[in-house]
This record gives sequence, structure tokens and C-alpha cells, in this order.
Amino acid sequence: MVNTPTQHSMPWTATPPTSWPDAPTYLTFSTLKEIEACPRRWALSTASYPSLWDGRGYPSKANIKAMAGTVVHTVLETLTKELVDAGCESVCDPSAITVLQRLEGLSRVIEKAIDQVCSHLAANPRAFRLSDYFTRSLKSQIPELRSSVQTMLAKRTLFAKPNSSSTMPLRHERGPLSHGVYCELELRVPHLQWKGRADLLSLTPDTCEITDFKTGAPSEDHAFQLRIYAVLWYLDKTLNPTSSLATQLALAYVQGDTMVQAPTKEDIAQFEDELTARGATARKIITEHPPEAKPSAEQCRFCGVRHLCDVYWQPDIQQQLANEHDDHSKTFVDAEVSVTKQHGPKSWDISIVSDTDEVQGLLRTAGDLDVQPGQRLRVLDAALSKYDTGTNSVICLTIGTFSEIYIVSP
Ligand code: SF4
Repeated sequence: MVNTPTQHSMPWTATPPTSWPDAPTYLTFSTLKEIEACPRRWALSTASYPSLWDGRGYPSKANIKAMAGTVVHTVLETLTKELVDAGCESVCDPSAITVLQRLEGLSRVIEKAIDQVCSHLAANPRAFRLSDYFTRSLKSQIPELRSSVQTMLAKRTLFAKPNSSSTMPLRHERGPLSHGVYCELELRVPHLQWKGRADLLSLTPDTCEITDFKTGAPSEDHAFQLRIYAVLWYLDKTLNPTSSLATQLALAYVQGDTMVQAPTKEDIAQFEDELTARGATARKIITEHPPEAKPSAEQCRFCGVRHLCDVYWQPDIQQQLANEHDDHSKTFVDAEVSVTKQHGPKSWDISIVSDTDEVQGLLRTAGDLDVQPGQRLRVLDAALSKYDTGTNSVICLTIGTFSEIYIVSP
């Protein structure tokens, strides 16, 4: 039986999957980067967990920044489609006002996108308890989200066809693209087993402009990703049977656009070799069961499945990660602890496992916690503090809104 969010109370057991996932049929840029960064993380995140839910992979931890980015993407997609369908060449086109009025204004479009994004939390057993919090928090950010959308859309020229009723191809209708503007367009190259989803592709008789919307900080990977889209466009014989080249590549950041040089035919041949080689290596790495773990302070700190990763919790690895981390005055920490006994109504005496010894401490929660003496727990993102008893100093781990506790299987 599959647990629904309300049936499945925390803390969960940190149980790794019973079987490891196969390599995906098609690779994408983000999957390649995930596998290259840490194959174990990719495998733990992608495996099936039927005892937790019937969704794909391990239930993800909600992240407000990622959700805000998804909201901006959703709004940009909605607006672009509506503007193109109305024959507007840009958001500055006088008829764009009519489009926005019909949609009840930009703030309303953002509000609907927030509701849509947050509705996924309701089905996520790991995140549903925070659904209201995230909805409220995102709605309080509407002015900033609005400004991001306006900046990113302002520079877009949509090359709309005057009589076009819809420029969005349906997924089951993959075929040669006519001139127009396409949002969230899937590019697919069977012989490479690669695919990608371009945020915006504008096609005229002489040009092909691919734009990727980026809500986070600029990174060198973004340019590489965009060039992969240009390669996939060139090689996608179904959408682009005449093999036209991308002529302009733009990364649309909140701070403004960054142009990326479009690859030539010679560049594309090199890219093809690189994608084939890196793809083959990534596919091979994940045939190991379990796949290799690559612990590093940068990767592990934000790893959403670190409670399932036995390598991460090894005391010598914890020490290595602590040494790599620049900030030794961290306020929020992960710790593996053993419950000694209940200390008070909402506190437990614990011993904290470390590289050299076991340190006595206290675990405090705001609500009820169903744990027993003798159990081992993995505590994530607990607030770290120390208090003085008069004779010694006790480490205190306090469970907050974003902390998690998992029971380690005996
Ligand atoms: S905790 Fe670190 S080593 Fe383990 S899966 Fe996550 S990123 Fe990889």
C-alpha cells in the first residue's frame, strides 16, 4: 500500500532503495551534471520508494529559491504563449495590454503560478507539512517575482506570425517546425541519446534564436547548456529536417541578457564527440551498484538524500567535510546521534557520534517526536548551540521548521 502524506508520519527510517535505477534512455545536461558530480546522489534521488509514495524518485525537500525560479519560468511560458497567440511582437506591443487585461494582470498570473507550483507540495510526503508556509512566503515575494518577469521579458522579440492562432506544437505532433515562437520545446537526437528542453526558440526564414531563462546566479555551465541546445536543434532531424543552424543564443538573467556564441558546423562535430564520450562515461558509472559516492562540502551540504548515503555519515568523511568547509562557526548542522533517554517533554539526552569520540548532548524539538532510547538518528539542519551546566558545556541540537530527523535502520 502506498502511504499518503497524512498517513506517513515523521520520523522516517533512512532506508536506501531496494534496487538501483537504470541509466536513462536519453541524457539531458542536468542529468549529466548530476551524475558527474556524484553518481550515488543521482541514483539515490532517482530510485523508486514505493513504501513512501507513488511519485518518481525520493520525495524532494522543498526549496524556496528553486520554487521561486519555477514560478518565474511558469509565468514566462504562460505570457510568451499568450503574447504570441495574440500576434504581439514583444511585451511593449500595444496589444500586450489587452492580453494582460484578459489574464487579470501580471500579479494574478504570478499568483496562479504560485498555486500551481505549491500544489505539487501537497502530494509530496516530505514537504506537504510546509505547503502553506511556502505558499505564503512565495506570495509575499510577488513584487520581486513580478520585477524579474518584467526584466526578462522586456528584451524578447517574439517574431510572431500575424495569423498564428497557436505556435505551440503538441507533444505527439513532433514534426518540422514552421516559422514562429516555441516555448519549452523538447529537442531530441536518437542517435546520440540526448535531449533537452529549450525555454524559447524563435524561428524566422533566416534566423533561429534560442533563449534560456535563468533565475539564479550566472554560471559557466549556462553557456555550455545553451550551446548543447543549439547542437540538439541542428541534429534534431524531426523538428529541423533542413539542419538549419541556431544563429543567436541568449541567456536571459534577471540582471540582463548575456549573449553566447552559436556553434558552427565544425563546433557541432566536436560537441557531438564530447556529448557521446561524456554520456558513455556517465552511463557506465551508474551501472555500478551502488554507484560511486563523491563526498565534498559543496555537494553534500545541499544533497537532498544525504540521510540515505552511508558514505556521508562515516566519521572520517564528516571530518574531511568539516575541514573543507570554510565556515567553522556554522549555525545549522547535520549529526548522527544515539538517543540515551528522554530528558524532558520535548527533549532527549543524546550522544553525538564523531570521528574521535562520542559527545554528550541534548536534542530539543518544538513538537512531539516519536523516538526511543537506543535508537540512532540522523539529524539534518539542526540549530547548533552550547549551554553551560556549571560543571560542563553541553551541545544542544534544536529541531526547527526546516530540520529533519531520520531513524537509522538497525
Ligand atoms: S551526501 Fe554527498 S556523497 Fe552522499 S550522495 Fe549526497 S552528494 Fe553524494
